[in-house]
Amino acid sequence: ERGRLQRLLHTPAVTMDGQKIQLLANIEMPEDALGALKAGAQGVGLFRSEFLFMGRQGRLPDEEEQYQAYKRAVEGMNGLPVTIRTVDVGADKPLDDSVRDNAHLNPALGLRAIRWSLADPAMFLTQLRAILRAAAHGPVHLLVPMLAHAREIRQTLAHIDHARAHLDNRGVAYGNVKLGAMIEIPAAALSLQLFLKYFDFLSIGTNDLIQYTLAIDRADESVAHLYDPLHPAVLKLVADTIAECRAQGKEVAVCGEMAGDVTLTRLLLGLGLRSFSMHPAQILAVKQEILRADTSTLEAWARRVCTAEDPALAMALP
Ligand code: PEP
Ligand code: MG
Repeated sequence: ERGRLQRLLHTPAVTMDGQKIQLLANIEMPEDALGALKAGAQGVGLFRSEFLFMGRQGRLPDEEEQYQAYKRAVEGMNGLPVTIRTVDVGADKPLDDSVRDNAHLNPALGLRAIRWSLADPAMFLTQLRAILRAAAHGPVHLLVPMLAHAREIRQTLAHIDHARAHLDNRGVAYGNVKLGAMIEIPAAALSLQLFLKYFDFLSIGTNDLIQYTLAIDRADESVAHLYDPLHPAVLKLVADTIAECRAQGKEVAVCGEMAGDVTLTRLLLGLGLRSFSMHPAQILAVKQEILRADTSTLEAWARRVCTAEDPALAMALP
């Protein structure tokens, strides 16, 4: 099976009806860029930068260290785009206790991801400068996690302007970045016009979108059986987000685990998704599904699945 999939490495990801699909990699460290290329990724759709911050005692990475790390990832991808997500710490991704107090009432609903970044502007500006500087070495997309509120969006954009001004003042080179937001809180999916107004692209984080839509802690084994990507409410948020982006010509990807699940590839194609970001190990298997798919017949079927009482059951029907 592995050998058979390996033969698809250089086959373009195009459906039977000629739709070109973008297959991107999720990475955690700059060195993972090599594995992404070897797996046939057309870029990095999600570089989880928090892995540079985790497991550090006493001191977080400074601007220079972060810049070197992001630059290694950018150069490692040989001119393909690299989507660097600003830190998403907290909840299932804690920092060392010496760096941050992890005792929060309810970490998944607490000072996590962009909320933590906005609460510590010096740390956030340091990261933004490092990312902007790395963009001088190749195409970089800057992705912001866990946004929900217009005020957070405006504060984030103001910080990015500040980071550029700092670099201008220091006379340090930096590059242009495309700006994107994760859609991973139901409130974000339900106020999409706001996100379409401020961002160049969107990326749907289904891991958290499922967690927050269903009120199921993604790390809690005792409720894991209720964690369901195919709940009609989850599918509605995913389907509507993709449809609205497409209607407005805005790039949209899925970068949660759903994107790498071969049993969901046809459904996501039917919902109009054309960009998938996943663990590199999944890329060829997803490509195989794409090569066998005909999106013109999948659209009506996907709509039926989404509105069924039991979408998992409906998916088994033609
Ligand atoms: C997600 O929430 O789907 C996602 C891609 O981000 P993370 O898993 O890092 O929270
Ligand atoms: Mg997430």
